Amino acid sequence: MTETAEYDVLIIGGGPAGLSAALNLGRARSRVLVIDADRPRNAATLLSHGFLTRDGIPPHELRRLAREELTAYPNVEVRSRVRVLSLRQTDAGFTADIGRRDPSGTATASAVVLATGLRETLPDVPNLRGYYGISLFSCAACDAWELQDRRLALIGESADLADRARLIARWTESLTVFTNGADVVTAGEQVELAAIGVAVQRHPITELVGERGRIEAIRLADGTSVAIDGGFVRPEWETELSFLDGIHPAVDDAGNLLTDRSGRTDIPGLYAAGDAATPGPQQLIVAAGAGARVAAVIVHDSVGVATAH
Ligand SMILES: Cc1cc2nc3c(=O)[nH]c(=O)nc-3n(C[C@H](O)[C@H](O)[C@H](O)COP(=O)(O)OP(=O)(O)OC[C@H]3O[C@@H](n4cnc5c(N)ncnc54)[C@H](O)[C@@H]3O)c2cc1C
Repeated sequence: MTETAEYDVLIIGGGPAGLSAALNLGRARSRVLVIDADRPRNAATLLSHGFLTRDGIPPHELRRLAREELTAYPNVEVRSRVRVLSLRQTDAGFTADIGRRDPSGTATASAVVLATGLRETLPDVPNLRGYYGISLFSCAACDAWELQDRRLALIGESADLADRARLIARWTESLTVFTNGADVVTAGEQVELAAIGVAVQRHPITELVGERGRIEAIRLADGTSVAIDGGFVRPEWETELSFLDGIHPAVDDAGNLLTDRSGRTDIPGLYAAGDAATPGPQQLIVAAGAGARVAAVIVHDSVGVATAH
């Protein structure tokens, strides 16, 4: 990239959503720039599941393969380990400042895809990060198969915890919900969970016990210790949009970007795909599909042809 470079489409984020959009836009002869800070949410995990033909692949390998495929398209440029520091709207489209901490270059584009994923905050439990992605996960569809029929935990502090427990209970008959002291499972929900064999522990968690990320027990403030082989946490997720400078796309009550079903935000020329665009499910193949769809929509919009999708 030169000091200021011009593109048809700037894609912010090089996960499956952004890279899939780049592949399909590249094939449509768009000049594409992908800027990727290379800090994907799934970096915590060793293996990714559920991506057709790539079940069980390490997440970094999936990204490497995708970037390698893009090298066949000279009209697609991928820059890693730099971020879009700010994005402004101009008469011609958008201008982005790009760099690590300070801007080292500028790019302009008539369309922008926000494929920045989500930022997640884990429940406030000591040393949870040390187990996350090894024996504690956040996505049942992604990782419950490997944990099935074992003694599982669900740790969370959000109001949807009982619903999540009902889902996870399909993979095991030994599930304990840990609310970590938060008042988030109602008495009625606790009765319903008990009816399907799910226990609820309401005391704050004082310690996760295990070795090298393999959890063995959860200790509670009342002195109880519950033996556990693995499980799930319920993080809080947020879309990180602070780099938008004077651009205010519609968001829902939780601050998540709102788009139409094709990935258009309410700002002309500004699109979103993958985890950054609600709704989920938050999965690699869904993000990749959303990237392909938004690419098709951008191509159609660029020539004023209506989309049927
Ligand atoms: C622990 C864990 C395990 C998971 N396991 C699975 C699994 O087994 N199977 C599965 O299908 N899904 C799994 N997921 C979910 C999956 O990782 C996501 O759904 C998927 O990565 C979303 O893709 P994305 O392209 O939208 O975002 P991401 O993959 O998160 O990529 C977004 C990229 O944008 C970059 N970025 C953000 N802001 C900027 C900026 N300002 N400038 C430049 N770049 C920026 C980030 O650094 C990142 O590289 C898992 C998630 C986690 C947390």
